Amino acid sequence: MSARVLAGPPAAAALLADAAARAGRLPTSPHLVIVCVGDDPASRSYVRGKSRKAGEVGLRSTVHALPESATQAELLALIDTLNRDDDVSGILVQLPLPAQIAEAAVLHAIDPRKDVDGFHPLNVGELWAGRPALTPCTPAGIMYLLEHYGVAVAGARAVIVGRSHLVGRPLAALLLLGDATVTVCHSRTRDLGRVTREAELLVAAAGSPGLVTPEMVRPGATVIDVGINRVLGADGKGHLVGDVHPDVAGVAGALTPVPGGVGPMTVAQLLANTVRAAELQHATRAHPEVAGEFVR
Ligand code: NAD
Repeated sequence: MSARVLAGPPAAAALLADAAARAGRLPTSPHLVIVCVGDDPASRSYVRGKSRKAGEVGLRSTVHALPESATQAELLALIDTLNRDDDVSGILVQLPLPAQIAEAAVLHAIDPRKDVDGFHPLNVGELWAGRPALTPCTPAGIMYLLEHYGVAVAGARAVIVGRSHLVGRPLAALLLLGDATVTVCHSRTRDLGRVTREAELLVAAAGSPGLVTPEMVRPGATVIDVGINRVLGADGKGHLVGDVHPDVAGVAGALTPVPGGVGPMTVAQLLANTVRAAELQHATRAHPEVAGEFVR
């Protein structure tokens, strides 16, 4: 038996087509602003990829590149300007930030209606309160992928390995909203395999290459591999591998590949969030009396 491959690109294309259609119904094209500080090559490459994809689906994007030496006050002043600019729909601050800048202060400063990463405490709280508005891109992208491939979530026993604010926690909230029974595992979980073997839907988001082995997987389970790990192959070259061992394909019913699984969903969801943010702002401008329902 070999697992059905849940490829990211077709699902990402469907999500982008939907986002582009919604963008077309707005009076102006949504505008994503990406702020990066420093010149980490990996971050720069992610930023280029996001901008290119935005252009492909007819969204505007602008990159503000601050030097590695930028102060927190400079970054907060830029965010304040972007918050006030009606022509800016979404603001993304590329993480990680240099040590002199407190990440929390920056994430708190972004207008929640422009918070396309979904990391502002108001958006985190709304998600856990069951009223998701702008939700983190990787978990929201995973939910779209599951829906695209018709994977049942309601009533399913879901196990997530990883409890980060980026992936594990918000995904737990979204799966709960989808009526799954959710268990979140982490580095202190005892007998991880015993817990993961219960999962009909298993999500690996630990950042540990090959962590999930075949004996940890219930036969026929759907396995979502979020991990992106750079390892040195036998050929001496760098390779991208997930958190799921390749032999799991012989046990799982369905499996996302790495690369080409969750990764494309994350970028697509960022653009979908930018359109959602533009919709929220448009609704607020058209009906100022309802603004308080989103931003208190
Ligand atoms: P993180 O380091 O913030 O969190 C990892 C989590 O996994 C922690 O909660 C930790 O307790 C848990 N963990 C680590 N080792 C474990 C083990 N042996 N057993 C059980 N739990 C363990 O990482 P993150 O930001 O959530 O990212 C996780 C992985 O997902 C990384 O490989 C990252 O590159 C990848 N990622 C991919 C995408 C994408 O778009 N595909 C997006 C975000 C993150």
